[in-house]
Amino acid sequence: MRKLDRLVVVGASLAGLRAAQTLRDEGYTGDLTLVGAEPHLPYNRPPLSKSLLTGDDDVALPGSDQLDARWLIGRNAVGLDTARQAITLDDGAQVPYDGLVITTGARPRRLDDSDMSLTGVHLLRTFDDAMNLRKALREGPRRVAVIGGGIIGGEVSSTLRALGIEVVLIDAAPAPMAGPLGETVGEWLAEHHTRNGVELVSGVRVESLKGDGHVSAVRLSDGRSLPADLVIVGLGVLPNTEWLDGSGLHLDDGVLTDSALFARGHANIVAAGDVARWPHGVFDDEYVRIEHWANANEQAPSPPATSSAARRTPSRSPRCIPWAHACTAPASSGPAFPEPPTRWWRSQVPLKRRSSPSASDEAGSSSRRRGQLAQGTHQTAPRHRRTSTAGHCNRGLTHTLPLGRSAPPGAPAVGIPAI
Ligand SMILES: Cc1cc2nc3c(=O)[nH]c(=O)nc-3n(C[C@H](O)[C@H](O)[C@H](O)COP(=O)(O)OP(=O)(O)OC[C@H]3O[C@@H](n4cnc5c(N)ncnc54)[C@H](O)[C@@H]3O)c2cc1C
Repeated sequence: MRKLDRLVVVGASLAGLRAAQTLRDEGYTGDLTLVGAEPHLPYNRPPLSKSLLTGDDDVALPGSDQLDARWLIGRNAVGLDTARQAITLDDGAQVPYDGLVITTGARPRRLDDSDMSLTGVHLLRTFDDAMNLRKALREGPRRVAVIGGGIIGGEVSSTLRALGIEVVLIDAAPAPMAGPLGETVGEWLAEHHTRNGVELVSGVRVESLKGDGHVSAVRLSDGRSLPADLVIVGLGVLPNTEWLDGSGLHLDDGVLTDSALFARGHANIVAAGDVARWPHGVFDDEYVRIEHWANANEQAPSPPATSSAARRTPSRSPRCIPWAHACTAPASSGPAFPEPPTRWWRSQVPLKRRSSPSASDEAGSSSRRRGQLAQGTHQTAPRHRRTSTAGHCNRGLTHTLPLGRSAPPGAPAVGIPAI
């Protein structure tokens, strides 16, 4: 087996944190470095379109402070040299590695620069995006236009209605999410939004935004112009792979990997989470990229268990990284299909649920923790276990925020601004 002393994770979010935790759980004692573009320790994104906008600051994703790791936070990887086994950071610094984990996720699609440069136009991917949006919402917009009837657009529209804000939801499809989920569900969603007071404008595209400095209206392809003094763009995401251009990795709507999540042709590089595209056993080994919390949460700890190929032929899985035994997970551990989160999206792919004997334990410990929080006696969060996905989702919502707490060595502390 190749000796690994320096493991680098690029992308310090959910999948990156889970990969790093797993490495330590499985006994890796060498250097571990996490590089993250955002100025925050890993946090949970699902609350950003929901509870955070209504005033609940909890986006906790416990565990960062228990990792013995070097955090290069607020730093972008801009290049990868696989021959020299080094990553280049935005300031030219080189980070050598023996094993590399790519978890750089995805970023939102944008409108044209001329539209995006108007004030009052928001994207929603990061904690900072959500806090900016929350601040803008508290300034009392008269009418918000949400562009895109997908999951983010739909969620944000519902959240805004809960805040009593007037919303127009503009979607190119005949009904929201009719593409991925079919007409029946699309029509149900359309009715749901309409009943909820959302003005739904379907089957039409956005041409451009109007405004003199600040956005004032959305111009549609059918010639209409809808007034709005705040716009939220929810047009889907693109995988963050540009920093890998020229590296020799196979890039095609994500990092292409084998069924064990090893970057094709590279025995010491893996990818996981929103950025990875791999042959999925459930879909007859068709290449898929899944943009869901549960996938990023489960995939990094046990990448190949989600693929039928790895289950069928475990001995084919490479054994070159410290989580090799997870790569060749024996059948006795059961098929580890990702389990959908309980409070967030139910999964949009046909997932099998693992039986979860620990569910009641989770519920019990969760309410105990809430009690501790109320009494101010809450201690450090328990370490993540990958067998308790459903509970973990809720657990994230009940923990204290990792941001602003004492950060691990090398990581800047980031506080929640009071808005
Ligand atoms: C508002 C919102 C709500 C959501 N709600 C749900 C939900 O309810 N249910 C659900 O299942 N999923 C939800 N999701 C999706 C879920 O959050 C993602 O699937 C998950 O975050 C993916 O994790 P990841 O670690 O793969 O990628 P990401 O979370 O995207 O993290 C990638 C990290 O890598 C960093 N990075 C990128 N490029 C570089 C670089 N070159 N150098 C260094 N760092 C880099 C990024 O800044 C980012 O911090 C939601 C997403 C959003 C935005």
